[in-house]
Amino acid sequence: MIPAPFKYAAVRSVDEAVDLLADNADAKVLAGGHSLLPLMKLRLATPGVLVDINRIPGLDYIREDEALERLTIGALTRHVDLERSELIRERYPLLWEAARGIGDPQVRNRGTLAGSVAHADPASDWPAALLAAEAEVVATGKSGQRVIPIVRLYVGILTTSLLVEELVTEVRVPLPRPRSGGAYEKLERKVGDYAVIGVGVQLSFNEAGTIATAGIGLCNAGSTSLRARTAEAFLVGKPPAPDNVNEAARLAMDDSDPVEDDRGPVDYKQAMVRELTRRALTRALERARGGK
Ligand SMILES: Cc1cc2nc3c(=O)[nH]c(=O)nc-3n(C[C@H](O)[C@H](O)[C@H](O)COP(=O)(O)OP(=O)(O)OC[C@H]3O[C@@H](n4cnc5c(N)ncnc54)[C@H](O)[C@@H]3O)c2cc1C
Repeated sequence: MIPAPFKYAAVRSVDEAVDLLADNADAKVLAGGHSLLPLMKLRLATPGVLVDINRIPGLDYIREDEALERLTIGALTRHVDLERSELIRERYPLLWEAARGIGDPQVRNRGTLAGSVAHADPASDWPAALLAAEAEVVATGKSGQRVIPIVRLYVGILTTSLLVEELVTEVRVPLPRPRSGGAYEKLERKVGDYAVIGVGVQLSFNEAGTIATAGIGLCNAGSTSLRARTAEAFLVGKPPAPDNVNEAARLAMDDSDPVEDDRGPVDYKQAMVRELTRRALTRALERARGGK
């Protein structure tokens, strides 16, 4: 199918984009187009105006901001930029592993992290990884910027707490804590596919060697991207023993709420949440101990 008719505007500034979004209730931001255009072709999305943000200068960056104590990622940063970044590979293995598992090279060359975050597809990898990392989303609208903890962004399938006039301009991730590690595990039916299940983990030890912080994000395991909160709470204060890892993986399974689809029945997906959580925790713990 071909999309329904729409107007097209290639904007040159964030202000211009925000003005167009505020003035046109049926406008949509166009970033990489790898989620929006398929929906438009199926006529599941019929925006009246496409606000193409690709020509806005200065929105493609990945840098650590010591004052904010955050890694900051601009809205036009593509999946491939994160996959190829030495900084991400060395210091943020959770993000690096999520980036390199997304789709195929064509998707990674055009798709943006911010577009994935805003699209709010529970089957997308970024939201699960960013929930584990306790990321924040910077939304810019008519009245300026607000910083939204990503845990408060997702309200339903393809639905966020962003206002229609708001553009995601930056995603922020806390700088790595001492003695911390992360990992992303994804099970896919074939290379380039969306996840059957994905699990992101970011954790840290305290000086005594027990677990100080634990973030676990689940992909395709519910009607929104989820945090496995019971499993996270269980781990804090515990030593990193295999029994505790196994129990946390079981609790993550209980925290999940997958539905049956062409990627498998519910009990299979739940079993995969448990196993992938166990694997991601094991690798993240190893990294927090100083391993690779
Ligand atoms: C064949 C194929 C395979 C894929 N496989 C995977 C996969 O394995 N894992 C995965 O996670 N994803 C996968 N994707 C999706 C891909 O990662 C998309 O790039 C991503 O989900 C959306 O990013 P985008 O920049 O393309 O956004 P777009 O498609 O341009 O936009 C998506 C939505 O977000 C909104 N939006 C975009 N940018 C902003 C912004 N800055 N502020 C506010 N709203 C914004 C748009 O209005 C639209 O509603 C796949 C896509 C395809 C086509």
